[in-house]
Amino acid sequence: MALRFYNTLTQQVEIFTPLHDNVVRMYTCGPTVYNFVHIGNLRTFTFQDILRRWLRARGYQLDHVMNITDVEDKIIRNAAAQGKSIGEYTAVYTQAFLDDTATLRLERPERMVKATEHIDDMADAIEKLRAKGFTYTSDGSVYYRIANFPTYGKLSHNDFSGIRAGARVDVDEYDKADARDFVLWKAQKDGEPAWETPLGAGRPGWHIECSVMAMKYLGETLDIHTGGVDLTFPHHENEIAQSEALTGKPFARFWLHAEHLSIDSQKMSKSLGNFYTLRDLIGMGYAPEAIRYLLASVPYRKKLNFTFDGLKAAATSIERLRNYKLRLETAKLAAGTNEKWTARAAAATKAFDEALDDDLNTAEALGAAFEFVRDANSAMDAGEFLAGNAPEAFEFLDRFDSVFDVLKPSVAEGGLTDAEIEALIAERAAAKKAKNFARADEIRKELEAKGVILEDTKEGVRWKRK
Ligand SMILES: [Zn+2]
Repeated sequence: MALRFYNTLTQQVEIFTPLHDNVVRMYTCGPTVYNFVHIGNLRTFTFQDILRRWLRARGYQLDHVMNITDVEDKIIRNAAAQGKSIGEYTAVYTQAFLDDTATLRLERPERMVKATEHIDDMADAIEKLRAKGFTYTSDGSVYYRIANFPTYGKLSHNDFSGIRAGARVDVDEYDKADARDFVLWKAQKDGEPAWETPLGAGRPGWHIECSVMAMKYLGETLDIHTGGVDLTFPHHENEIAQSEALTGKPFARFWLHAEHLSIDSQKMSKSLGNFYTLRDLIGMGYAPEAIRYLLASVPYRKKLNFTFDGLKAAATSIERLRNYKLRLETAKLAAGTNEKWTARAAAATKAFDEALDDDLNTAEALGAAFEFVRDANSAMDAGEFLAGNAPEAFEFLDRFDSVFDVLKPSVAEGGLTDAEIEALIAERAAAKKAKNFARADEIRKELEAKGVILEDTKEGVRWKRK
């Protein structure tokens, strides 16, 4: 069976091939860099990583663009509260995002592009929409008139035929099943950062960012657009309305959406005390590979219920695979090749490939791997697994790990990774703030014992390795 994905636009599973040549042109809505990303966000980014790796395993090249939203309501508010420019404020969280995704072994998209570096492109696009009659202006801000785009609602499959003409919204995020004219260009308000453009002094809305940057780098029709399911409406619906109004062509052929993550079957929220960033989990002693494994283990269109038992089980599963690999590397196998085991390795590879071809069914792909390992261990116990079968088993493990990437331990023998050090420093800062000086001191000593020296400066804590 061919590679196929569930397409939100058509509500069907469809065979996937790229439009041009062998290159998959893909766009992902990236982070809004106002804070550390939480593990719900990271679930979506982990799905995109699995998607990237599987497309490549199937012989495609990638041209993948991810935006960094570095101007937006929350960013402006938080930066002002800290007396920083939005550039200074977002630089910290942009770097944190790059560090966190690297810790989780998420491949970097071919291009990561910042909204603030494309303001003129966005102003041009809004001018074009205005010339085509899709906009109106009110109090200096420019709005998109959705009544002029007859297929509005086709992605989220909402019927908006009864919409109130002229009802509009200024904020970037709104989740009501209520269609509104949305803001393309926000006129400058007192004290807010703004750009001078032919539209006047102001800043772009969030939705126009993605349309403009996606088409600038990938052309008018993308192969795949991905994001979290919460972006389907209104964000992605609005991206379609903007892009297709500009070009008259389909904006994206395939829309892939990752489902939500819950914690112990509850919605993750700061008020429930169950809100976790990657740094929180690493600070609690969990390995990045276990977190990656857990996030990848549930097929992306199913809701993922994150539990600490699940995280521990993920670590155990990885251990089982590593133990098998170690056994394969060190076992004294009798000479020869058992044809039955050559066929078994080929069957495992086929089952693994077919699972991922089936809309990235990661649960079944993992099942194929564990069945193989279980059977191979028994065959080794029984002396049926011969030296000539080892290369085939290694090949299967390599194929598995080219997608799941959990076999290599993150931590060097006895050492701490940068992310673990950062997590301990963050925990120490929190302990100090809570006046738990004993814990803060303990962390300093623990780091020192592992060869990391802390230096408290006016700018915060600096660290170096001995
Ligand atoms: Zn977007």
